[in-house]
Amino acid sequence: MKTENFSKRIQNEFKKAAARSNIAAALIAKLLTYDRSLEFDVLFKKSDGSAQTVKGYRVQHNNILGPYKGGLRYHPDVSMDEMKALSFLMTLKNAVIGVPFGGGKGGMAIDPKTLNEQELEELTRSFTRQLASYIGPEKDIPAPDVNTNSKIMAWIVDEYGKITGKQTSTVVTGKPIELGGSEGRLEATGYGGTYALLAILKLLKKKPENFTVAIQGFGNVGQYAAELLQQNGFKIVAISDSKGGIYVPEGISDIRALMKYKAEKGNLFDKRITGREIALEAILTLPVDIIIPAALEDVIHGSNARDIRADIILEMANSPMTHEADKILAGKGVMIIPDILANAGGVAVSYFEWHQNTRNEQWTKEEVFSKLKKKMELAANDVYQIHREKKVPLREAAYMLALERIQAKWLKK
Ligand code: GLU
Repeated sequence: MKTENFSKRIQNEFKKAAARSNIAAALIAKLLTYDRSLEFDVLFKKSDGSAQTVKGYRVQHNNILGPYKGGLRYHPDVSMDEMKALSFLMTLKNAVIGVPFGGGKGGMAIDPKTLNEQELEELTRSFTRQLASYIGPEKDIPAPDVNTNSKIMAWIVDEYGKITGKQTSTVVTGKPIELGGSEGRLEATGYGGTYALLAILKLLKKKPENFTVAIQGFGNVGQYAAELLQQNGFKIVAISDSKGGIYVPEGISDIRALMKYKAEKGNLFDKRITGREIALEAILTLPVDIIIPAALEDVIHGSNARDIRADIILEMANSPMTHEADKILAGKGVMIIPDILANAGGVAVSYFEWHQNTRNEQWTKEEVFSKLKKKMELAANDVYQIHREKKVPLREAAYMLALERIQAKWLKK
């Protein structure tokens, strides 16, 4: 459930950062609008022969930096307000990470777990037919987001080709490797957030070994974050997913084994791991140093923010805290590494994929990770510098950096 108007919250955050920067009034006004907001019915055939209609969306916020770019989310809570907020965040995220893309976001208000594979394909193809004339390799490039994956991207490529006659896989990123997908795209968001955290800790002259971590969300993002964090010496003591959580104070020894268990059994309750099972909400208020919300928005709010005991929050989900929570945590001196930096690794590798596609190149996993690491370090350092110079929280610093970059390009146009 949304506790506030989501897109207004992002706009307010943006206005605050804009007021502190030297940004032209015309550009501020422009960024407070959306270039195009599409809402349409998506009709598809069910396996029992009946038909179902769901609401489909694509919001193209802004393309000053380049083609619109952003994921497609399949979730019952998807709404126009959410799509607007998330497309705005994409505009800012792409600027922070320094990729030549604007901001977009789309999706459908449906729980894909209620569909079988054939229905999911029918639904995706129908959605693509509605969207085909608005997307394209130089226009708007969708990608995976919550509950969408490389298989769904492959259906979009195929349907887009049929509709437009343009057989190009560059129309989406996050594709299967054999269709032109990039090595490392799956790990990208989780790894990228880890690289950003490592860069910030280095600036603070702190060592990973001294930190315990709790991760809320064990999907694609949380899993790969956990894997790389552990490889770097962090102690992962708690993980939760939508079914519940586990708390192992001495540290979860084998993250890979847990990933395998989750893939096979669909939950985290591996009997070989001895620890406590915890209630879903409890994960965020455990006595740990770092919490990582890696699922959906608004999980940290006015009612639980005061109970948070961590010193650092790494926002791997998009907008996981309300404005009220943000204020409470700032008052407590918690360092918040904001979403538009912390989860930018996904779109960074989407850019690498698009770049490889347009130049007919194929990079190795090692190349992708080393370039991703550099990008994340650069962005983290830039954000941190503004944070120190202007004495603003990291979130505001990230917004300010994004605005500076967008304005630099806007002035050249
Ligand atoms: N859905 C991801 C995000 O929110 C990635 C978007 C993309 O790769 O275009 O950043």
